[in-house]
Amino acid sequence: MAKREVAGTTVEVSEFATDPIGQQVSALPGVGGERATRLAKLGIRTVADLLWHGPRRYEDRNQQHEVKALAKGDDATVAGPIVAAGVKRMRFGKSLFELIIDDGTARLHCRWWNMPYMERYYKTGDFVHVHGKLKTVKPRTMDHPEVEVSEEGEEFIHLKRIVPVYRLTEGIKQRWLRGVMWRVVEQFAADVPNTNAELLAGDDSHWLPLAAAFKAVHFPDDLGQTELARERLALEEFILFQRQISERRKTFQAKVKALECSGDDRFLKPFLAGLGFDFTGAQQRAWEEIARDMAGSYPMRRLLQGDVGSGKTAVAACAALRAVESGFSVVVLAPTEILAEQHYRVFGKWLEPLGIPVHLHTGARKTMSDPGQPELSMGNNELPPLVIGTHALVEEKFKLENMGLAIIDEQHKFGVEQRKKLVSKGQYPHVLVMTATPIPRTLGLTVYGDLDISLIDELPPGRGPVRTHVRKPESLPKVWSFICEKLAEGRQAYVVYPRVDDEGGGSLKAVNQELETVREQLAPHTVGLLHGRLKSAEKEQAITGFLAGKIKALLATSVIEVGVDIPNATIMLIENADRFGLAQLHQLRGRIGRGVYESHCILVADEVTDDGRRRLDVMEKGGDGFELAEEDLRQRGPGELLGQAQSGLPDFKFGNLIDDWRLIQKARDLVAREPRD
Ligand code: ADP
Ligand code: MG
Repeated sequence: MAKREVAGTTVEVSEFATDPIGQQVSALPGVGGERATRLAKLGIRTVADLLWHGPRRYEDRNQQHEVKALAKGDDATVAGPIVAAGVKRMRFGKSLFELIIDDGTARLHCRWWNMPYMERYYKTGDFVHVHGKLKTVKPRTMDHPEVEVSEEGEEFIHLKRIVPVYRLTEGIKQRWLRGVMWRVVEQFAADVPNTNAELLAGDDSHWLPLAAAFKAVHFPDDLGQTELARERLALEEFILFQRQISERRKTFQAKVKALECSGDDRFLKPFLAGLGFDFTGAQQRAWEEIARDMAGSYPMRRLLQGDVGSGKTAVAACAALRAVESGFSVVVLAPTEILAEQHYRVFGKWLEPLGIPVHLHTGARKTMSDPGQPELSMGNNELPPLVIGTHALVEEKFKLENMGLAIIDEQHKFGVEQRKKLVSKGQYPHVLVMTATPIPRTLGLTVYGDLDISLIDELPPGRGPVRTHVRKPESLPKVWSFICEKLAEGRQAYVVYPRVDDEGGGSLKAVNQELETVREQLAPHTVGLLHGRLKSAEKEQAITGFLAGKIKALLATSVIEVGVDIPNATIMLIENADRFGLAQLHQLRGRIGRGVYESHCILVADEVTDDGRRRLDVMEKGGDGFELAEEDLRQRGPGELLGQAQSGLPDFKFGNLIDDWRLIQKARDLVAREPRD
């Protein structure tokens, strides 16, 4: 073992280690097996993992806050000796551990509820740094602050500088981890190969070498450095990820030959002529991109993004016709029965006059006898069919001969696995996925990075405006009479509540319990009921009744969230509106504003959390889909937002999927410029 002097301590370096930063952390001095096991809980196994474990925040210990100067609500770090500490036992087995520090300007009480074992860690006389939010001023109090006990030695790491504060786990203390990190940065940062330096040299901005970035991100000389350093490290992650995506695509494109879908317009022409409207510029562009893909040499993998009501279905129909013209069958996967039925009606209306068989295949209804049986294979004169369905299409049993195109509507409702399963029923068919939930830019470039994106950013002309109003429950009488007025004028309304059944105790409205009340409010107009637990026939009856105008108002749960297209409906009343997610509210509002009349979306909510308030504000301001999607991502985080779709996404250490879209775009551009081999 060679010895090296690092930051005042002597460390041993294995001369045989070919990849110093690839070493296990247990090889580091002071990190035994026990600690190594605990670090593994933080995802840290190697020296490199340690370097990539970025600080959660920083504390500027050059400038101590004075306890006396803190105002209620201030977030601050203060330091001083503990002057008293102890546990108070309270009734019902509850306890309170309290310690008091005095920094010479005033005393600060720090309290922890029901954590009596804290007593073991802190004693009077210990010098501590305390970080938290001042809860009250008399006496000055912080609840559950972070505390770090100072110990002799290594002051240059922990004091009089900007110190990093890391995410911890049980048995790993802040001060210990910071010490390890200091030594690792000193010893190993210089060994980190400055990957992608060449690539970055071609960029307009100046980028730190990786070694300098690690130094500055862990132990910055001033806080101004940290963001630049973080960006360099995030960019590194995004470049690696984009390269993976690009490689995957290249492999796919080299390996797989596309089904030839150039078509001859013999169905497309009459379809477009009989449609009754002209495509918007955006629809036309999207269709041209799709047509080019389908005629290309590798299978289409395209995402069609367009706000609710932008007319994605007609564009998808063009793709379907192009496949059929070229001799291939088509599947359309929809997330709900209601939507599948609607597509069945619409595609039937468009395609059947051209002689193309259209089938429905849902759990509840199948218009073809047995999938995969001779009926569905093409006879000599028969055209390949279009089959629309729900999850039932993904089942093992379902087979479709000669599948040339799979269309997946509202793809955010499906997981990657379901998509794969459906697609694997064909021989690399073209795939078109559609979504009305705008995808935040960052996710478009990462999670959906495998897909080409077409955007329909224009609504068909002649749509009435949609106004959004946020109201308190007290205003409901006025709201009901407003809705009655509109119904009397011949319009129709949706009323949406969060629950099917009252589960007791809650203040959330449930459609089954409120049906009679809503009927009274809206009398003499007829009110229908729609929710996910109804039988298929009942759902169908409600929708067709509403469509035919026999039902004037539809009391529903969020099952109507996706896709339902009924232009005469101009009112959307949502109660307990704060309980719905932004994407959901946006989708629900998308059910109106589909005709020429002015539409109204009325969001009723009572006591509202801050997040709930922000959601309603974004909605009330109108909110273009992207703005909404980004706020949604911010509130819920990528994990929850993406659900299963997320699988395959790395856990970025420095990259941030909420804010870093410019960096991700940069990484993508840089990787695209790399020479292909
Ligand atoms: P989404 O993009 O939400 O799926 P749809 O495809 O359901 O929207 O279209 C909404 C409505 O707009 C449908 O009734 C459709 O026929 C109509 N539509 C689509 N494109 C146009 C257009 N270019 N001009 C007029 N109406 C259109
Ligand atoms: Mg749609």
